[in-house]
This record gives sequence, C-alpha cells and structure tokens, in this order.
Amino acid sequence: MKPLIRRLTGLGVATALAAVGAAGPARAEGNVDVRRVLTVMVNFQDSKLENPDALRAVVERTYFGKTDSMSAYYAEVSLGRARFEPAVKERVIGPVDLPMKGAGCDSAAMHDRTAEALKARGIGPKDYEHISIVFPDQVAKCPWAGLGTVGGGKTWLPHWALDAPGALIHEIGHNLGFPHHARVRCTAGRGLSTCAEDGFSRKTPMGAGGPKSGMTAAELLHRKWLTPAEHVKVTEPGIFTLRTLYSRGTGPRVLEIPLSDGGSALVEVRGPSGALDSAIAGVHLYRVEDGHYNKSALVDFTKADSSESAPAADALPAGTTVIDPARGTSLQVQERKGGATTVAVRFAGKPEPTEQEPGEPEPGEPEPTRQAQAGNGDKQPEAEGEGQVLSNDPRPDGSQPAGPGSDGTAGASPSRLAVTGTGAGTGLYAGTGAVLVVAGGTLLFARRRRASTEVSAGSDGTRPGRGAGRSGTA
Ligand SMILES: [Zn+2]
Repeated sequence: MKPLIRRLTGLGVATALAAVGAAGPARAEGNVDVRRVLTVMVNFQDSKLENPDALRAVVERTYFGKTDSMSAYYAEVSLGRARFEPAVKERVIGPVDLPMKGAGCDSAAMHDRTAEALKARGIGPKDYEHISIVFPDQVAKCPWAGLGTVGGGKTWLPHWALDAPGALIHEIGHNLGFPHHARVRCTAGRGLSTCAEDGFSRKTPMGAGGPKSGMTAAELLHRKWLTPAEHVKVTEPGIFTLRTLYSRGTGPRVLEIPLSDGGSALVEVRGPSGALDSAIAGVHLYRVEDGHYNKSALVDFTKADSSESAPAADALPAGTTVIDPARGTSLQVQERKGGATTVAVRFAGKPEPTEQEPGEPEPGEPEPTRQAQAGNGDKQPEAEGEGQVLSNDPRPDGSQPAGPGSDGTAGASPSRLAVTGTGAGTGLYAGTGAVLVVAGGTLLFARRRRASTEVSAGSDGTRPGRGAGRSGTA
C-alpha cells in the first residue's frame, strides 16, 4: 500500500491505520477464487445483541443465503469465478463476549479483542480471508453503517445493518481492493482536463449503485474475474461487438483502449442480466490510470442531474465519438440491428476499421485459469493484506456525523480525451486538427493536471477521525 492516499473533493478524508493484521491470500480451488468469511457476532460489557438466535439467522442468510445475500451477489457478479463461503462449520460464530465497552465505537479494539477470543478457540488468520464483526450498536452508536478495510479483510457491521445485504456487499467490496467509485463529469467537445468529479458513478455497489448493480468492468478486471477473451486490448483498428457485461455467452465484454498519457479507456455495455443491472443500461466509458483497475472512474458527458433519470441516461448514445487526439485514437459507438452494440476504434495513419470476428467461438469457453489470467489484471496489484485504509459508510438516517469519510478514491485524472457529438467519426484522421474542428467544434486541451490531491495519511497510526463527511449512502 502506498503511503500516500488520495483525497478527492467531495469524498471526505481518508484515514489509515498502522496496524497490520489482515487476511492471507485467497485459496484457489480449481479455477474458482474461494474466499472464506469468518463471521463473528460479539457482545460488549455495556451492550449485548438482542435476540441473538434470531439475529444469527438473519446474519447467516445475509452473508451466505442462496439468494439475496453477499455470497450470492459475488457469485453472480463474478459469473461463478469467485465463491464466498463460511470459514467455519457453524457458519456464524457467537455472540462472543468481548472484554470491552461498546461506548466509543473503538473498531480497532473490537477487532483485536475478537481475534484474541478466536485464538483461544484455535482460530487464526490462516483460517479465513475475511473477518466480519457484527456488534450491538445501541451504545456504541458508531457513526457509520459499515466499515471495511480497503484491501485486507476486516469488516464491521452494526446489528441493524444486515436485514439486507447492501452494506455488507459494499464493505466486502472494500476488502477486495475497491475504494468508492467516482463519476467525472465532462463537457462534450472539450478535453478531459475540464472534467470535474461529481459524486459517485452509480454503476457499482462501490459507487452508490446499490446491491442490484453489477460491478464495473474495471472492477472485474481488478479481481481477474474476466477471461482474456472477454477483455480485448485494442491496438489495431477494428469494429468490435460487445455483449452485455453480465450476459452469459461468449465474446468480448470490455474493450480497453490505450491513451496517450499512459492510461486507458474501458468501454462496457450494461443492461439487465439475471438479478443484476435492472437499472443500468447502455455503453459506459471509464478512465483507468496506470493499470489500476480498482481505481477507475466513470466518464460522463451528460449534464448534471440527468444521470439518475433513466438507466441509460448517462450512457454514450449511438453515434458518439470519443477522441484521444494526442494518440490519434477514436472510438465510436454504433448500434446494429438486433440491439447489438458495436464500437469502432480508429487509429491515425492506420486503415479504416473492419468488423472483428469475435474469434472462434471457444467451445464451452474454458473457465479462466490462473495462467490465462496472468496478464489480465492490474499491472501493480496491491497486495492483499496490506490494505489498512479504512472506509466507512454513512448511516442512512443521517443522525450521526459521517465518519472518517471514504478511502482514497479513484484517481480520475483528466487526460487528453474528448468526446464529440454524434456522427462525427468518419474520416477523422485525414488531418487531425482540422478534422477535429469539423467533427466536434473547438476542442480545448489544457495541460494535464490531477484532479486529486495526494495527502499524506500513511502509516502514522492515526485513528479514524470523526470529521464531517458527505451525506448519502455509498
Ligand atoms: Zn464505502
């Protein structure tokens, strides 16, 4: 974990813990990423879980139920390539009486006292990838609806937050290496340097999309939950047909187009699939820096407030062309008969793109293997177990101050990428500058600057503070 974490305006202040004590690497069982979750209900000296048997049933269902649970969510979002399972036979441990008071909401002490109690039972960090503590909140009154380490494997959930799996899915998402997922709002016809961060993407539970949202293609790439055949790195002109991100079948699910500044653009198509994405549709564009797929941001060219009105309101409509003038690259969204979405990618000085065969349909498409996925993830994955940035999430009632806010969220730094209006793609590279003017009006490219401010909040042992945070849920 880098000592520096980023703070983005509007996303609060990140806080880090110095202590290390996180989950080990997940086991790979065949081709499935198996993640053991140790769920522990605890009591404090000054407050206890009421009706623990009834609560245990709720907890078990919310963590491990066949449907509408955290484990069901990740099974679906990974298309079966990840499995979350109970770390112990009894599935949910406790309540365990901890020798501490709830008052003060000391999350570090909660973890440490719990770990000590588990050690006495012969259970240690080798036995799980995630440890999740369910505690009585009536005295603790923690200023959040859930807390999780970004990377690492610790989550904390108040007793009242588990009737539905949303908070848990989100906190486990932090454990998987995801900070909050941002939206950057940009102006069509102008460079990304003029974009401004504007809240959350609403394309993933990590971006206030809720538990009915799938994750972004970038997040899937970070977890290596896509096969190489599903992840097309575009380096030659082509017209690519993308399938809906969570559909079953074969063929590409995400295009990655390198940008002139070393980052890349990801293109995905979203739409209802199974229990996912009932409220997300259309072609979406993400910005990835330096191969850090866990820190992408949605690039949104629509005006504020239009994004929540319809599933595809912030999607790129057919005909839209997005240009990286410095590299001479463009991508154009096209719609074909039958509703299939295609994206034409052009490169300056190279021939016009032609339809790309999706490749020989791989019979029964082999499940991904570790080897096959080797080149498919982050360039510099952050080692699991090192993540000690805590991310908490505001209480829905807003009655408490939001806690230390969020983690280091997506570096959505502007790049030399621009979007033009519809129908602008043809002949784009006859002469870059002149044609761009014809295509999209005046393009302004300010010098690249970073939207994020790096603040030092590294391993200084800081306890999570209780600063003012944003409102709303993430
Ligand atoms: Zn969060």
